[in-house]
Amino acid sequence: MRIAIVGGGLGGLAAALFLRQAGLHATVYEQASALREVGAGLVVPPNMVRPLARLGLAAKLPDFAVRLEAAWEFRRWQDAHVLSVQPMGDECERLYGAACYVAHRADLLALLQAALPEEQLCLDHRCVEVRQDDGGVELTFAHRGGHWAKVTADIAVGADGIHSAVGPALQANVEPRFAELCAFRFLVSADRAPEMALRPVQTLWLGPGRHLVHYPISGGRLVNGVAIVPAGEWRTESWTAEGSVQDLLVEFEGWHEDVQRLLAAATETKRWALYDRDPLERWTHGRVTLLGDAAHAMLPFFAQGAAQAIEDAESLAACLRGTDAASAPAALQRYEALRRPRASEVQLMSRGREIRNHLPDGALQRQRDLELAQGEPLRQSAWVYAHDGEASPSMPPAGA
Ligand SMILES: Cc1cc2nc3c(=O)[nH]c(=O)nc-3n(C[C@H](O)[C@H](O)[C@H](O)COP(=O)(O)OP(=O)(O)OC[C@H]3O[C@@H](n4cnc5c(N)ncnc54)[C@H](O)[C@@H]3O)c2cc1C
Repeated sequence: MRIAIVGGGLGGLAAALFLRQAGLHATVYEQASALREVGAGLVVPPNMVRPLARLGLAAKLPDFAVRLEAAWEFRRWQDAHVLSVQPMGDECERLYGAACYVAHRADLLALLQAALPEEQLCLDHRCVEVRQDDGGVELTFAHRGGHWAKVTADIAVGADGIHSAVGPALQANVEPRFAELCAFRFLVSADRAPEMALRPVQTLWLGPGRHLVHYPISGGRLVNGVAIVPAGEWRTESWTAEGSVQDLLVEFEGWHEDVQRLLAAATETKRWALYDRDPLERWTHGRVTLLGDAAHAMLPFFAQGAAQAIEDAESLAACLRGTDAASAPAALQRYEALRRPRASEVQLMSRGREIRNHLPDGALQRQRDLELAQGEPLRQSAWVYAHDGEASPSMPPAGA
């Protein structure tokens, strides 16, 4: 069976690897002429570590990632008061059979790429059209320099991110929704960062209208920071668009001195307008399906976008295992039935945090802080972190 995967991000590469493990051959078509991720960190939660382990890759995580001892350490913007903290480390391994890491996206992408035979990745292939009939799929690609190529396949998988070119072939596309927020992303070398930011902890500072997340990456040599603030006039959505450190500092005037010191240590920052989508009504049509952000673009507030993409990848391969070209459409329907409810729920939950994280000081904020102090995020999120194929809870418990 010929499988074409459009998009060589974390989701597309993982799908090719899981399909390979299932005895199926897939080719990844990526628009970029080289695979690279720009400077930004990523939480690698246990529900991503376990699939990576099944690919034989998790043992390499400690080479470059930082194992978190604590996560969701919420602090108050003015005085650094800890509102809540969730021990990870051994507790996470005990509960979910895997640790939680934070990593540089580039390292993670390189890990997946190194595991994929070169001939399964075609760079400089920008998909511009996908057509299908009962017998197969035809994909059209544009190359730099103005050449075109057509490829036929038995099934096509759109792993091409929030602005998917494959999505329209499903006739169920939903326009991305602008969240009126933007993310400043920056890296600070460890010797310039405040001591508290070097701990193996994912820290979130909550304040009126904005929040800041930071954690160490790259074996502790760098601190990754993401500041979520009102977007103002900013609409550019790109990993590479330059922002201004000065603008970033202005956003956090009056915040605790550790925050100010961390931001002031940044020498450059990228600025990215945040979009998500309403859950799609369907991911699959005939011989074409979606995966990762193309299927369920979500806000980054639950740090689950990439993890859900990797879960999709494993599930897709499990559904396709043992099928042939004739039975593939039914397998794609099974994949969607397994994945869409869960990923949609995570999408909506991530959106819910948008308001909660940014409450102005007052009664609602005090109520939130009380709930944070009483909550147990690791246990409350069991349905997310414990998910393991079909054999574990996929959805939140009723009333959660
Ligand atoms: C600020 C921020 C912080 C985040 N933090 C986390 C986190 O801590 N943990 C987590 O799990 N997730 C996090 N995420 C989400 C995560 O980054 C995404 O969910 C994840 O990268 C999605 O992977 P993907 O492979 O589906 O799509 P992408 O990473 O978007 O990859 C899509 C690929 O497709 C290619 N492509 C696009 N169009 C075409 C085309 N027409 N033809 C061919 N190729 C094409 C692109 O070049 C790209 O390589 C964060 C997101 C943001 C914005």
